[in-house]
Amino acid sequence: MTTNGGFEPVFCTVVPPYVLDKLAQHDDPALSGPAQRTLVRDSELRARRRVTAEFRLAAAPTAKAPSDQPLRTIYDAEHRTELPGTKVRGEGDDPGRDATVNRAYSGLGATFDLYLKAYLRHSIDGDGLPLDATVHYDEGYNNAFWNGEQMVFGDGDGEIFVDFTNSIDVIGHELTHGVTQYTANLTYYGQPGALNESMSDVFGSLIKQYSLGQTAAEADWLIGAGILAPGVTGTALRSMKAPGTAYDDDVLGKDPQPATMDDYVRTGRDNGGVHINSGIPNHAFYLVATALGGHAWEKAGQIWYDVLTGGKLKERAFFSDFAKLTVKAARERYGDGGDEFQAVQKAWEQVGVRIL
Ligand SMILES: [Zn+2]
Repeated sequence: MTTNGGFEPVFCTVVPPYVLDKLAQHDDPALSGPAQRTLVRDSELRARRRVTAEFRLAAAPTAKAPSDQPLRTIYDAEHRTELPGTKVRGEGDDPGRDATVNRAYSGLGATFDLYLKAYLRHSIDGDGLPLDATVHYDEGYNNAFWNGEQMVFGDGDGEIFVDFTNSIDVIGHELTHGVTQYTANLTYYGQPGALNESMSDVFGSLIKQYSLGQTAAEADWLIGAGILAPGVTGTALRSMKAPGTAYDDDVLGKDPQPATMDDYVRTGRDNGGVHINSGIPNHAFYLVATALGGHAWEKAGQIWYDVLTGGKLKERAFFSDFAKLTVKAARERYGDGGDEFQAVQKAWEQVGVRIL
């Protein structure tokens, strides 16, 4: 517990540290330089969060979004690291010339829309939290993050990563860390940390699917398609459909995600593998959504949302705890004999998570 009532915001980046570690060791300084800078920046930010988070979150919010509209503000860091930077677009303003600003603005809007229209959730905190984002953060910064208060996007180094606003699911992923922070507040380590990461991938992907009007069968189920530079051998950062296949590149290495418990990775790195083992609950969600068909946010998403926000999911939940709650939620919402209940049970079985 922290002094602000159990609220422990974490510094959540979209690119996992093991990817940047690998890049930082490359012989080519054009690749290692930006990765090293990004790692240093991330560790500074992580340390600073612990000191300032509790104090700043305790302050009363100054403004609230109206009941059916987001309240967005986009800032430009102009390649420096002071946050939030210069305000460049406010709510209702026309699009400007900077495509990065416009993508950030519409990505925040799409996230707000899914939560409001599919789950009747009014912004990230359920209480009209204004949505702030900063673009063009630092130089060659290979990441995007939610810092407990706002979104921040780098432009990438241009060699391995490009503009992080390119993927709407990355925007949705980061903001969903905010939703998790305000609800189940899953501890960012080990299995609860991998569940935290998985929630962000699940709702990040749903935000993309919702904004494109796609069915589960039409969706690409990729996270970060569009942020890898053209020379990289890969399609995205992660795949929910086929974890472990998103990239296999000379420089980046191979996507380390397992799809089932048989390949569960025990590691102390990456906060105990939060971006690695998240492949398992990610794949379970994909299996439920594709088994049920139609729009994934409607039934599969509803079941996951019920568990995330229902108050029963513990901060230190394991995969099996989460799985059990999703089975219960499917039964409560759609009945005992329903396809939903069966699809959820079967999916966890397929990924090897035992429901005790
Ligand atoms: Zn994340």
